[in-house]
Amino acid sequence: MANEQMGLLMVNGATGESISFGEIAQQSMNLALSLSQLGVGKGKTVAICSENRLEFWGAAIGSICTGAVLTTFSDIYTEHEFIHVGDISKPQYIICSPQAYKTHEKIFRNLKYVQKVIVFGDDKPPNTVSFNELVARSVRFQEFQVADVDGTKDTLFVLYSSGTTGLPKGVMLTHLNVLITSTVPTITRGNLDNIYELVSSPWYHAMGLNMSFLLIAKGVNVVFLPKYDTGLVLKCITKYKIASINTVPPVLVAFTKHANKEDLSSVRVIYSGAAPVNKDTLEAVKKMFPNVSTVYQGYGMTESTLGLMRDIGLSSSPKLGSVGKVGSGIVAKVVDLTTNKALGPNQPGEICVKGAIMMKGYVGKDRREDFDEEGFFRTGDVGYYDQDGYFFIVDRLKEMIKYNAHQVAPAEIEAVLLQHPGVRDAGVVGVPHAGAGEVPRAFVAVQPGASVTAEELQKFVAERLSNPKHLRGGVRFVQDIPKNPSGKIMRRHLRAMVDSKL
Ligand code: AMP
Repeated sequence: MANEQMGLLMVNGATGESISFGEIAQQSMNLALSLSQLGVGKGKTVAICSENRLEFWGAAIGSICTGAVLTTFSDIYTEHEFIHVGDISKPQYIICSPQAYKTHEKIFRNLKYVQKVIVFGDDKPPNTVSFNELVARSVRFQEFQVADVDGTKDTLFVLYSSGTTGLPKGVMLTHLNVLITSTVPTITRGNLDNIYELVSSPWYHAMGLNMSFLLIAKGVNVVFLPKYDTGLVLKCITKYKIASINTVPPVLVAFTKHANKEDLSSVRVIYSGAAPVNKDTLEAVKKMFPNVSTVYQGYGMTESTLGLMRDIGLSSSPKLGSVGKVGSGIVAKVVDLTTNKALGPNQPGEICVKGAIMMKGYVGKDRREDFDEEGFFRTGDVGYYDQDGYFFIVDRLKEMIKYNAHQVAPAEIEAVLLQHPGVRDAGVVGVPHAGAGEVPRAFVAVQPGASVTAEELQKFVAERLSNPKHLRGGVRFVQDIPKNPSGKIMRRHLRAMVDSKL
Protein backbone atom coordinates (compact mmCIF):
# COMPACT_ATOMS: atom_id res chain seq x y z
CA MET A 1 0.00 0.00 0.00
CA ALA A 2 1.25 3.49 -0.70
CA ASN A 3 2.88 5.34 2.14
CA GLU A 4 0.31 8.16 2.04
CA GLN A 5 -2.42 5.66 2.98
CA MET A 6 -0.42 3.66 5.51
CA GLY A 7 1.45 6.32 7.51
CA LEU A 8 5.01 5.58 8.51
CA LEU A 9 6.44 2.27 7.43
CA MET A 10 9.02 -0.32 8.34
CA VAL A 11 9.93 -2.02 5.04
CA ASN A 12 11.71 -5.30 4.39
CA GLY A 13 14.00 -4.30 1.49
CA ALA A 14 14.47 -7.92 0.40
CA THR A 15 10.75 -8.73 -0.05
CA GLY A 16 9.05 -5.33 -0.29
CA GLU A 17 6.69 -6.29 2.57
CA SER A 18 6.00 -3.60 5.13
CA ILE A 19 4.33 -2.92 8.46
CA SER A 20 3.10 0.53 9.49
CA PHE A 21 4.13 2.12 12.77
CA GLY A 22 0.43 2.02 13.74
CA GLU A 23 0.40 -1.74 13.19
CA ILE A 24 3.58 -2.10 15.23
CA ALA A 25 1.94 -0.17 18.07
CA GLN A 26 -1.16 -2.39 17.91
CA GLN A 27 0.96 -5.55 17.78
CA SER A 28 2.98 -4.33 20.77
CA MET A 29 -0.10 -3.70 22.91
CA ASN A 30 -1.65 -7.04 21.95
CA LEU A 31 1.56 -8.88 22.70
CA ALA A 32 2.14 -7.06 26.00
CA LEU A 33 -1.24 -8.13 27.31
CA SER A 34 -0.81 -11.73 26.13
CA LEU A 35 2.71 -11.92 27.56
CA SER A 36 1.52 -10.54 30.91
CA GLN A 37 -1.05 -13.34 31.00
CA LEU A 38 1.80 -15.81 30.42
CA GLY A 39 3.62 -14.40 33.44
CA VAL A 40 5.98 -11.96 31.70
CA GLY A 41 6.59 -8.74 33.61
CA LYS A 42 8.98 -7.01 35.99
CA GLY A 43 11.79 -9.29 37.12
CA LYS A 44 11.52 -11.43 33.98
CA THR A 45 13.70 -11.40 30.88
CA VAL A 46 12.64 -11.92 27.28
CA ALA A 47 15.18 -12.70 24.56
CA ILE A 48 14.59 -12.07 20.87
CA CYS A 49 16.60 -14.26 18.54
CA SER A 50 15.79 -13.38 14.97
CA GLU A 51 17.09 -11.98 11.74
CA ASN A 52 15.64 -8.50 11.08
CA ARG A 53 11.98 -9.02 10.17
CA LEU A 54 8.62 -7.27 10.32
CA GLU A 55 7.47 -8.69 13.67
CA PHE A 56 10.70 -7.73 15.47
CA TRP A 57 9.51 -4.34 16.74
CA GLY A 58 6.10 -5.54 17.90
CA ALA A 59 7.94 -8.26 19.82
CA ALA A 60 10.49 -5.84 21.27
CA ILE A 61 8.12 -3.03 22.27
CA GLY A 62 5.45 -5.48 23.48
CA SER A 63 7.96 -7.20 25.77
CA ILE A 64 9.24 -3.88 27.10
CA CYS A 65 5.71 -2.65 27.88
CA THR A 66 5.29 -5.53 30.34
CA GLY A 67 8.21 -4.18 32.40
CA ALA A 68 10.43 -7.15 31.50
CA VAL A 69 14.08 -6.80 30.52
CA LEU A 70 14.74 -7.37 26.83
CA THR A 71 17.86 -9.06 25.56
CA THR A 72 18.78 -9.78 21.95
CA PHE A 73 20.61 -12.85 20.67
CA SER A 74 22.22 -13.06 17.27
CA ASP A 75 20.56 -15.66 15.08
CA ILE A 76 23.98 -16.81 13.96
CA TYR A 77 25.51 -17.46 17.39
CA THR A 78 27.20 -20.82 17.83
CA GLU A 79 26.12 -23.10 20.67
CA HIS A 80 29.07 -21.91 22.72
CA GLU A 81 28.08 -18.24 22.20
CA PHE A 82 24.43 -18.92 23.06
CA ILE A 83 25.40 -20.55 26.30
CA HIS A 84 27.77 -17.70 27.12
CA VAL A 85 25.26 -14.87 26.58
CA GLY A 86 22.29 -16.90 27.83
CA ASP A 87 24.05 -17.54 31.11
CA ILE A 88 24.56 -13.79 31.48
CA SER A 89 20.93 -12.67 31.00
CA LYS A 90 19.10 -15.96 31.77
CA PRO A 91 15.91 -15.26 29.78
CA GLN A 92 12.79 -17.21 30.77
CA TYR A 93 11.21 -16.50 27.36
CA ILE A 94 12.69 -16.61 23.87
CA ILE A 95 10.89 -15.08 20.91
CA CYS A 96 12.43 -16.32 17.70
CA SER A 97 12.03 -16.53 13.94
CA PRO A 98 11.18 -19.91 12.37
CA GLN A 99 14.65 -19.91 10.84
CA ALA A 100 16.37 -19.32 14.19
CA TYR A 101 14.12 -21.95 15.79
CA LYS A 102 15.00 -24.52 13.16
CA THR A 103 18.71 -23.97 13.62
CA HIS A 104 18.85 -23.54 17.38
CA GLU A 105 15.88 -25.45 18.81
CA LYS A 106 18.05 -27.94 20.69
CA ILE A 107 20.17 -25.22 22.27
CA PHE A 108 17.08 -23.24 23.36
CA ARG A 109 15.71 -26.38 25.00
CA ASN A 110 19.00 -26.98 26.78
CA LEU A 111 19.10 -23.52 28.38
CA LYS A 112 17.61 -24.51 31.72
CA TYR A 113 16.14 -21.11 32.59
CA VAL A 114 14.06 -20.92 29.35
CA GLN A 115 10.40 -21.70 30.08
CA LYS A 116 8.67 -20.79 26.82
CA VAL A 117 9.74 -20.43 23.22
CA ILE A 118 7.54 -18.16 21.11
CA VAL A 119 7.89 -18.46 17.34
CA PHE A 120 7.03 -15.92 14.61
CA GLY A 121 5.17 -17.04 11.50
CA ASP A 122 2.26 -19.31 10.60
CA ASP A 123 3.73 -22.67 11.62
CA LYS A 124 3.69 -23.60 15.27
CA PRO A 125 6.33 -26.20 16.06
CA PRO A 126 5.42 -28.62 18.92
CA ASN A 127 5.84 -27.22 22.43
CA THR A 128 6.13 -23.65 21.27
CA VAL A 129 3.80 -20.67 21.54
CA SER A 130 2.67 -18.94 18.36
CA PHE A 131 3.51 -15.23 18.18
CA ASN A 132 0.64 -14.75 15.73
CA GLU A 133 -1.81 -16.21 18.25
CA LEU A 134 -0.47 -13.96 21.00
CA VAL A 135 -1.03 -10.84 18.91
CA ALA A 136 -4.43 -11.93 17.58
CA ARG A 137 -6.48 -9.61 19.79
CA SER A 138 -7.41 -5.94 19.64
CA VAL A 139 -6.30 -4.14 22.76
CA ARG A 140 -7.61 -0.59 22.78
CA PHE A 141 -5.02 2.14 23.22
CA GLN A 142 -7.26 3.98 25.70
CA GLU A 143 -7.33 0.93 27.96
CA PHE A 144 -3.72 -0.09 27.61
CA GLN A 145 -1.41 0.24 30.61
CA VAL A 146 2.38 0.19 30.32
CA ALA A 147 4.19 -1.26 33.35
CA ASP A 148 5.63 1.31 35.75
CA VAL A 149 9.40 1.52 35.73
CA ASP A 150 12.10 3.53 37.46
CA GLY A 151 13.82 4.98 34.40
CA THR A 152 17.14 5.61 36.09
CA LYS A 153 17.45 2.22 37.73
CA ASP A 154 15.45 -0.40 35.87
CA THR A 155 17.21 -2.28 33.10
CA LEU A 156 15.54 -2.04 29.72
CA PHE A 157 18.07 -3.91 27.59
CA VAL A 158 20.84 -6.37 28.26
CA LEU A 159 23.02 -6.21 25.14
CA TYR A 160 26.40 -7.76 24.64
CA SER A 161 29.67 -5.87 24.20
CA SER A 162 31.41 -6.60 20.95
CA GLY A 163 33.89 -9.17 22.26
CA THR A 164 36.53 -8.40 19.65
CA THR A 165 39.29 -9.22 22.09
CA GLY A 166 37.65 -10.95 25.07
CA LEU A 167 34.34 -12.70 25.59
CA PRO A 168 31.23 -10.47 25.31
CA LYS A 169 29.89 -8.94 28.53
CA GLY A 170 26.24 -8.17 29.36
CA VAL A 171 25.68 -4.42 29.14
CA MET A 172 22.73 -3.18 31.22
CA LEU A 173 21.03 -0.17 29.65
CA THR A 174 18.29 1.57 31.61
CA HIS A 175 15.03 3.01 30.28
CA LEU A 176 16.54 6.47 30.74
CA ASN A 177 19.69 5.59 28.77
CA VAL A 178 17.56 4.66 25.78
CA LEU A 179 15.06 7.49 26.19
CA ILE A 180 17.86 10.04 26.10
CA THR A 181 19.24 8.72 22.81
CA SER A 182 15.95 9.56 21.12
CA THR A 183 16.79 13.23 21.68
CA VAL A 184 19.98 12.91 19.62
CA PRO A 185 20.03 15.44 16.78
CA THR A 186 19.69 14.13 13.24
CA ILE A 187 19.81 16.22 10.13
CA THR A 188 16.64 18.29 9.67
CA ARG A 189 15.06 16.92 6.59
CA GLY A 190 11.72 18.67 6.12
CA ASN A 191 8.66 16.46 5.78
CA LEU A 192 9.74 13.18 7.38
CA ASP A 193 6.71 11.27 6.03
CA ASN A 194 8.29 10.91 2.65
CA ILE A 195 11.78 10.20 3.87
CA TYR A 196 13.13 6.67 3.87
CA GLU A 197 16.19 5.81 5.87
CA LEU A 198 18.12 2.58 5.38
CA VAL A 199 19.50 0.69 8.36
CA SER A 200 21.99 -1.95 7.27
CA SER A 201 22.83 -3.30 10.74
CA PRO A 202 21.24 -6.25 12.52
CA TRP A 203 18.84 -5.31 15.29
CA TYR A 204 20.35 -7.56 17.91
CA HIS A 205 23.39 -5.26 18.02
CA ALA A 206 23.24 -1.97 19.94
CA MET A 207 23.79 0.18 16.88
CA GLY A 208 21.01 -1.36 14.76
CA LEU A 209 18.64 -1.66 17.74
CA ASN A 210 19.07 1.74 19.32
CA MET A 211 19.36 3.55 16.00
CA SER A 212 16.14 2.01 14.69
CA PHE A 213 14.43 2.77 17.99
CA LEU A 214 15.49 6.38 17.57
CA LEU A 215 14.11 6.47 14.01
CA ILE A 216 10.80 5.01 15.14
CA ALA A 217 10.65 7.59 17.94
CA LYS A 218 11.41 10.39 15.48
CA GLY A 219 8.91 9.07 12.94
CA VAL A 220 11.08 8.16 9.95
CA ASN A 221 10.29 5.34 7.48
CA VAL A 222 12.86 2.57 7.83
CA VAL A 223 14.06 0.14 5.17
CA PHE A 224 15.87 -2.87 6.66
CA LEU A 225 17.39 -6.06 5.31
CA PRO A 226 17.07 -9.53 6.87
CA LYS A 227 20.59 -10.27 5.67
CA TYR A 228 23.21 -7.83 4.44
CA ASP A 229 23.84 -7.80 0.68
CA THR A 230 25.63 -4.91 -1.06
CA GLY A 231 23.83 -5.31 -4.41
CA LEU A 232 20.47 -5.34 -2.64
CA VAL A 233 21.31 -2.27 -0.54
CA LEU A 234 22.15 -0.33 -3.70
CA LYS A 235 18.94 -1.52 -5.40
CA CYS A 236 16.89 -0.48 -2.35
CA ILE A 237 18.45 2.98 -2.50
CA THR A 238 17.06 3.46 -6.00
CA LYS A 239 13.73 1.77 -5.33
CA TYR A 240 12.86 3.65 -2.13
CA LYS A 241 14.74 6.84 -2.98
CA ILE A 242 16.60 6.41 0.27
CA ALA A 243 17.53 9.80 1.72
CA SER A 244 19.93 8.65 4.39
CA ILE A 245 21.87 5.54 5.28
CA ASN A 246 22.93 4.35 8.72
CA THR A 247 25.77 2.01 8.33
CA VAL A 248 29.17 0.69 9.36
CA PRO A 249 32.60 1.02 7.70
CA PRO A 250 32.80 -2.43 6.04
CA VAL A 251 29.60 -1.58 4.18
CA LEU A 252 31.20 1.65 2.96
CA VAL A 253 34.25 -0.34 1.82
CA ALA A 254 31.96 -2.86 0.09
CA PHE A 255 30.13 0.01 -1.69
CA THR A 256 33.35 1.35 -3.11
CA LYS A 257 34.51 -2.08 -4.27
CA HIS A 258 31.15 -2.87 -5.96
CA ALA A 259 30.57 -2.22 -9.68
CA ASN A 260 27.50 -0.03 -9.14
CA LYS A 261 24.93 0.69 -11.85
CA GLU A 262 22.20 2.14 -9.60
CA ASP A 263 21.07 5.74 -9.34
CA LEU A 264 22.26 6.85 -5.89
CA SER A 265 21.34 10.50 -6.22
CA SER A 266 18.53 10.37 -3.61
CA VAL A 267 21.02 9.87 -0.77
CA ARG A 268 21.86 13.12 1.01
CA VAL A 269 23.27 11.83 4.27
CA ILE A 270 25.38 8.83 5.25
CA TYR A 271 26.07 8.08 8.90
CA SER A 272 28.83 5.66 9.78
CA GLY A 273 29.80 4.38 13.18
CA ALA A 274 30.87 1.39 15.26
CA ALA A 275 34.34 0.91 13.76
CA PRO A 276 37.14 2.96 12.22
CA VAL A 277 36.76 4.19 8.67
CA ASN A 278 39.71 5.44 6.67
CA LYS A 279 39.94 8.71 4.73
CA ASP A 280 40.26 7.08 1.31
CA THR A 281 37.05 5.15 1.79
CA LEU A 282 35.30 8.36 2.87
CA GLU A 283 36.51 10.13 -0.27
CA ALA A 284 35.54 7.21 -2.53
CA VAL A 285 32.04 7.08 -0.98
CA LYS A 286 31.54 10.79 -1.57
CA LYS A 287 32.43 10.33 -5.24
CA MET A 288 30.01 7.43 -5.57
CA PHE A 289 27.04 9.29 -4.02
CA PRO A 290 26.69 12.52 -6.01
CA ASN A 291 24.59 14.35 -3.40
CA VAL A 292 26.52 13.33 -0.30
CA SER A 293 29.02 15.99 0.66
CA THR A 294 29.93 14.56 4.06
CA VAL A 295 29.90 11.08 5.50
CA TYR A 296 28.94 11.76 9.10
CA GLN A 297 30.72 9.74 11.71
CA GLY A 298 29.80 8.77 15.20
CA TYR A 299 31.75 7.03 17.89
CA GLY A 300 30.03 5.01 20.52
CA MET A 301 29.72 1.58 22.00
CA THR A 302 27.14 -0.78 23.38
CA GLU A 303 28.03 0.57 26.84
CA SER A 304 27.05 4.10 25.74
CA THR A 305 23.67 3.11 24.19
CA LEU A 306 24.52 5.01 20.99
CA GLY A 307 26.95 7.76 19.98
CA LEU A 308 29.21 9.55 22.42
CA MET A 309 30.84 11.70 19.80
CA ARG A 310 29.44 12.76 16.49
CA ASP A 311 29.91 15.30 13.77
CA ILE A 312 26.21 15.82 13.04
CA GLY A 313 24.72 19.13 14.05
CA LEU A 314 28.03 20.87 14.78
CA SER A 315 28.20 24.61 14.31
CA SER A 316 31.56 24.12 12.53
CA SER A 317 32.10 21.68 9.63
CA PRO A 318 33.09 18.06 10.18
CA LYS A 319 36.80 17.28 9.84
CA LEU A 320 37.92 14.43 7.66
CA GLY A 321 38.80 11.38 9.74
CA SER A 322 37.39 12.82 12.98
CA VAL A 323 34.39 11.30 14.78
CA GLY A 324 33.28 14.80 15.73
CA LYS A 325 32.85 16.42 19.11
CA VAL A 326 31.53 15.20 22.43
CA GLY A 327 27.71 15.03 22.35
CA SER A 328 25.57 17.11 24.69
CA GLY A 329 25.32 15.80 28.23
CA ILE A 330 28.54 13.79 27.86
CA VAL A 331 31.89 14.59 29.48
CA ALA A 332 35.06 13.07 28.05
CA LYS A 333 38.72 13.02 29.00
CA VAL A 334 41.78 11.44 27.45
CA VAL A 335 44.19 9.94 29.97
CA ASP A 336 47.81 8.89 29.74
CA LEU A 337 48.11 5.14 29.27
CA THR A 338 50.57 4.73 32.12
CA THR A 339 50.00 7.60 34.54
CA ASN A 340 46.20 7.96 34.06
CA LYS A 341 46.64 11.76 34.11
CA ALA A 342 44.29 13.78 31.89
CA LEU A 343 46.02 14.88 28.68
CA GLY A 344 45.76 18.06 26.60
CA PRO A 345 45.06 18.38 22.86
CA ASN A 346 46.77 16.17 20.27
CA GLN A 347 48.08 13.65 22.78
CA PRO A 348 46.78 10.12 22.32
CA GLY A 349 45.59 8.27 25.40
CA GLU A 350 42.63 6.25 26.65
CA ILE A 351 39.25 7.91 26.12
CA CYS A 352 37.12 8.00 29.29
CA VAL A 353 33.52 9.18 29.33
CA LYS A 354 30.56 9.85 31.57
CA GLY A 355 27.00 11.00 30.99
CA ALA A 356 23.36 9.94 31.12
CA ILE A 357 23.66 7.55 28.18
CA MET A 358 26.32 5.44 29.89
CA MET A 359 25.22 1.98 30.95
CA LYS A 360 24.38 1.11 34.54
CA GLY A 361 27.13 -1.51 34.48
CA TYR A 362 27.87 -5.03 33.30
CA VAL A 363 25.74 -7.92 34.54
CA GLY A 364 27.46 -9.50 37.54
CA LYS A 365 30.45 -7.15 37.53
CA ASP A 366 31.44 -4.51 40.06
CA ARG A 367 31.21 -1.02 38.51
CA ARG A 368 34.56 -0.08 40.03
CA GLU A 369 36.35 -2.40 37.62
CA ASP A 370 35.30 -0.32 34.62
CA PHE A 371 34.59 3.18 35.95
CA ASP A 372 37.31 5.35 37.52
CA GLU A 373 37.05 7.16 40.85
CA GLU A 374 35.52 10.21 39.11
CA GLY A 375 32.78 8.06 37.56
CA PHE A 376 34.29 7.98 34.06
CA PHE A 377 33.92 4.77 32.07
CA ARG A 378 37.21 3.56 30.64
CA THR A 379 36.41 2.87 27.00
CA GLY A 380 39.55 0.90 26.19
CA ASP A 381 39.89 3.03 23.05
CA VAL A 382 42.93 5.10 22.25
CA GLY A 383 42.27 8.50 20.73
CA TYR A 384 42.96 12.21 20.98
CA TYR A 385 41.20 15.54 20.47
CA ASP A 386 42.60 18.47 18.55
CA GLN A 387 42.76 22.13 19.54
CA ASP A 388 39.17 22.61 18.29
CA GLY A 389 37.79 19.73 20.36
CA TYR A 390 37.39 17.27 17.47
CA PHE A 391 38.07 13.68 18.46
CA PHE A 392 40.10 11.16 16.48
CA ILE A 393 40.03 7.45 17.31
CA VAL A 394 43.35 5.68 16.92
CA ASP A 395 42.44 2.09 17.84
CA ARG A 396 41.37 -0.26 20.59
CA LEU A 397 43.83 -0.26 23.48
CA LYS A 398 43.91 -4.04 23.55
CA GLU A 399 44.44 -4.23 19.82
CA MET A 400 47.47 -1.96 19.66
CA ILE A 401 50.58 -3.81 18.54
CA LYS A 402 53.63 -3.19 20.65
CA TYR A 403 56.64 -3.19 18.34
CA ASN A 404 59.69 -2.43 20.47
CA ALA A 405 58.66 0.73 22.30
CA HIS A 406 56.24 1.78 19.56
CA GLN A 407 52.45 1.58 19.66
CA VAL A 408 51.25 0.47 16.24
CA ALA A 409 47.55 0.84 15.38
CA PRO A 410 46.39 -2.05 13.17
CA ALA A 411 43.65 0.19 11.72
CA GLU A 412 46.27 2.43 10.13
CA ILE A 413 47.98 -0.45 8.33
CA GLU A 414 44.61 -1.88 7.27
CA ALA A 415 43.66 1.49 5.76
CA VAL A 416 46.82 1.45 3.64
CA LEU A 417 46.28 -2.13 2.50
CA LEU A 418 42.74 -1.25 1.41
CA GLN A 419 44.18 1.36 -0.96
CA HIS A 420 45.75 -1.46 -2.97
CA PRO A 421 43.48 -2.31 -5.93
CA GLY A 422 44.05 -6.05 -5.45
CA VAL A 423 42.89 -5.99 -1.80
CA ARG A 424 39.22 -6.53 -1.01
CA ASP A 425 39.63 -6.58 2.74
CA ALA A 426 42.40 -6.69 5.32
CA GLY A 427 42.96 -7.29 9.03
CA VAL A 428 46.19 -6.83 10.96
CA VAL A 429 47.27 -8.32 14.28
CA GLY A 430 50.47 -8.52 16.28
CA VAL A 431 52.48 -11.74 16.17
CA PRO A 432 54.69 -12.52 19.17
CA HIS A 433 58.33 -11.88 18.36
CA ALA A 434 61.31 -12.77 20.55
CA GLY A 435 63.29 -9.57 19.95
CA ALA A 436 60.68 -6.91 19.26
CA GLY A 437 57.75 -8.07 21.43
CA GLU A 438 55.26 -8.08 18.57
CA VAL A 439 55.38 -7.50 14.82
CA PRO A 440 52.41 -6.70 12.54
CA ARG A 441 51.00 -9.45 10.36
CA ALA A 442 48.34 -8.83 7.71
CA PHE A 443 45.52 -11.15 6.74
CA VAL A 444 44.31 -10.20 3.30
CA ALA A 445 41.25 -11.16 1.23
CA VAL A 446 42.00 -10.59 -2.43
CA GLN A 447 39.64 -8.77 -4.84
CA PRO A 448 38.04 -11.32 -7.23
CA GLY A 449 40.18 -11.75 -10.34
CA ALA A 450 43.21 -9.91 -8.88
CA SER A 451 46.59 -11.49 -8.28
CA VAL A 452 48.83 -10.02 -5.63
CA THR A 453 51.83 -11.33 -3.70
CA ALA A 454 52.80 -10.99 -0.06
CA GLU A 455 56.06 -9.23 -1.01
CA GLU A 456 54.17 -6.72 -3.14
CA LEU A 457 51.90 -5.83 -0.21
CA GLN A 458 54.79 -5.63 2.25
CA LYS A 459 56.51 -3.23 -0.13
CA PHE A 460 53.28 -1.26 -0.63
CA VAL A 461 52.96 -0.72 3.14
CA ALA A 462 56.68 0.00 3.59
CA GLU A 463 56.47 2.78 0.99
CA ARG A 464 53.63 4.45 2.83
CA LEU A 465 54.15 3.93 6.55
CA SER A 466 57.01 4.40 9.00
CA ASN A 467 59.31 1.58 9.99
CA PRO A 468 57.49 0.11 13.06
CA LYS A 469 54.37 -0.35 10.91
CA HIS A 470 56.06 -2.50 8.25
CA LEU A 471 54.60 -5.97 7.85
CA ARG A 472 57.46 -7.85 9.51
CA GLY A 473 55.06 -10.59 10.54
CA GLY A 474 54.26 -11.32 6.89
CA VAL A 475 51.04 -11.52 4.91
CA ARG A 476 48.57 -14.42 4.88
CA PHE A 477 45.86 -14.70 2.25
CA VAL A 478 42.39 -15.67 3.48
CA GLN A 479 38.92 -16.04 1.99
CA ASP A 480 37.33 -13.45 4.28
CA ILE A 481 38.29 -11.30 7.24
CA PRO A 482 36.26 -12.43 10.28
CA LYS A 483 34.01 -9.56 11.34
CA ASN A 484 31.12 -9.16 13.71
CA PRO A 485 27.90 -7.77 12.28
CA SER A 486 28.67 -4.23 13.32
CA GLY A 487 31.76 -4.44 11.15
CA LYS A 488 34.47 -4.86 13.73
CA ILE A 489 37.33 -7.14 12.85
CA MET A 490 37.27 -10.11 15.22
CA ARG A 491 40.95 -9.94 16.02
CA ARG A 492 40.77 -12.80 18.49
CA HIS A 493 39.81 -15.02 15.53
CA LEU A 494 42.74 -13.70 13.51
CA ARG A 495 45.01 -14.17 16.51
CA ALA A 496 43.86 -17.77 16.78
CA MET A 497 45.10 -18.19 13.22
CA VAL A 498 48.54 -16.93 14.23
CA ASP A 499 50.05 -20.25 15.11
CA SER A 500 53.71 -19.93 15.79
CA LYS A 501 56.20 -17.51 17.30
CA LEU A 502 58.51 -15.97 14.74
P1 AMP B 1 30.29 -2.05 20.14
O1 AMP B 1 30.03 -2.16 21.57
O2 AMP B 1 30.15 -3.35 19.41
O3 AMP B 1 29.44 -1.00 19.51
O4 AMP B 1 31.80 -1.61 19.96
C1 AMP B 1 32.29 -0.38 20.47
C2 AMP B 1 33.68 -0.12 19.99
O5 AMP B 1 33.67 0.11 18.56
C3 AMP B 1 34.31 1.12 20.53
O6 AMP B 1 34.82 0.91 21.83
C4 AMP B 1 35.38 1.41 19.50
O7 AMP B 1 36.50 0.58 19.68
C5 AMP B 1 34.71 1.00 18.20
N1 AMP B 1 34.15 2.17 17.50
C6 AMP B 1 32.90 2.61 17.54
N2 AMP B 1 32.73 3.69 16.74
C7 AMP B 1 33.91 3.94 16.17
C8 AMP B 1 34.40 4.92 15.25
N3 AMP B 1 33.61 5.84 14.71
N4 AMP B 1 35.70 4.86 14.92
C9 AMP B 1 36.51 3.93 15.44
N5 AMP B 1 36.12 2.96 16.29
C10 AMP B 1 34.84 2.96 16.66
